[in-house]
Amino acid sequence: MGCPLRFVGRAQALKLGWIVPEGPEIRLAADGLARAIAGRVARRVEFAFEHLRPFEPILAGEEVLRVDTRGKALLIVFANGLTIYSHNQLYGVWKTARAGVRPATRRTLRLTIENEERAALLYSASEIDVLEWANLDAHPYLATLGPDALDPATTAGAVTERLADRRFANRSLASLLLDQSFLAGIGNYLRAEICFVAGVRAERRPKDLSDVERRRVAEAALAVSRQSYATRGITNDLALATQLASDGLARSRRRFHVFARAGEPCWRCETPVQRTTLAGRRLYWCTGCQR
Ligand SMILES: [Zn+2]
Repeated sequence: MGCPLRFVGRAQALKLGWIVPEGPEIRLAADGLARAIAGRVARRVEFAFEHLRPFEPILAGEEVLRVDTRGKALLIVFANGLTIYSHNQLYGVWKTARAGVRPATRRTLRLTIENEERAALLYSASEIDVLEWANLDAHPYLATLGPDALDPATTAGAVTERLADRRFANRSLASLLLDQSFLAGIGNYLRAEICFVAGVRAERRPKDLSDVERRRVAEAALAVSRQSYATRGITNDLALATQLASDGLARSRRRFHVFARAGEPCWRCETPVQRTTLAGRRLYWCTGCQR
């Protein structure tokens, strides 16, 4: 699965410093889509990909029950049991608009779901599929996903146990926290922020952490992800972020503890934030706060 990205490669985009959507951003996109199409009959469903067009007449006239996420995958569930799966990778973008209206954009429209009032439009994404709801777990990406960090059913106790599991305990946190089969929905900015909040360096392996540290990593993994979803991307201490906002600091400069803050003083201990590359991605951390 997975077509190559159309415009520039992942490596190039990462070099440009783009922040790739992670679980919280995908869930927020799903919420926006749900407001436009959930609980309503889709009058029109259109795919840009030839092999999916046979599903158009099968989905048109069906009610959209809900819009779910699993990790970074988005699932649009129809009343007839069919589900549209999409994974945005770097470039996919969802937009909503009034029915019949198409936003001005140079992007390629890949999927349209339209009811009497609103349209949900997916641009640029290349990973789109139609699956049977009952068989979702057979999908090659969904089948590999670990528990979802944003799922209320995922507990810190379960994540702590997972850290001690020998499948994961020997790998660095830097690599583990990007692995969707360990915990789904975490990406690069969350990885740095979670390690900071837990007070541990990302090079460390779960098996070398104390019980208390493993528990702190598990709690931070869930708490930081959930705060980011609840605040639309603020992972910094909320009281501090509010104070910094009233001081006039731009959102991009106050939203994180350490991510993308290389050379700037740690909010807690004033040590300059370090930048390095771990598991192929940029990582930020504080030598004063992380052991
Ligand atoms: Zn610090």
